[in-house]
Amino acid sequence: MSDKVSMQMVSAVFSQHMCQKLGAVVIDKENSTIMQGAAIGFDVGRLFGLSGLPDGAYFNEHFATTLGPMIFMPKAIRNGDPLSYMSLLTHELEHVAQWKEKKIGMPWLYLTEPSMRASYEAQAFGGQLDLEHWFTGRLPTDLTHQLNSLASSYHLRPEDVKQAEAFMLSHLDTIKAGGHVSRSSLEAIVWLERNYPQLKGSF
Ligand SMILES: [Zn+2]
Repeated sequence: MSDKVSMQMVSAVFSQHMCQKLGAVVIDKENSTIMQGAAIGFDVGRLFGLSGLPDGAYFNEHFATTLGPMIFMPKAIRNGDPLSYMSLLTHELEHVAQWKEKKIGMPWLYLTEPSMRASYEAQAFGGQLDLEHWFTGRLPTDLTHQLNSLASSYHLRPEDVKQAEAFMLSHLDTIKAGGHVSRSSLEAIVWLERNYPQLKGSF
């Protein structure tokens, strides 16, 4: 049914609305002197489906990085599959909301406290699942892939991965019950319901 709506268009307008609403800006990662000059970032958000540790060019092509209100997004993702882009953007926007809530404290906690990292990431991943559930009507039955991704890419300790798993399972229950688990997924779904209700469950 989605042939009537250009998903590229939906994703472009979605991105514009979401960034305005959450006070964020998306920047091409490739063109950014910040990203070229520094190997820092309090988030390394990643797409589902990829595995392994990031390094060099791979990192720049496949990972989004969020610093405060700035989301550095690889062009390949921005111009790639619209659903994957909206999903990853929703993940990163939750980090912007987390940052706005805690300002200085959040990047510091994020970098120094693996257990805080686990909860921030679980919420951001949960928001992705929330959005994907809206589009597809499906939720993953097995979180192994997401948890492995957390463990390898975010340098979490085994006990933090356990904690992240508990958060994620609780987020899945919330989504199943019709709730929303992150500020960005709530905003995303309210906007989609208002503007493109016909896309719900259509993928
Ligand atoms: Zn993240």
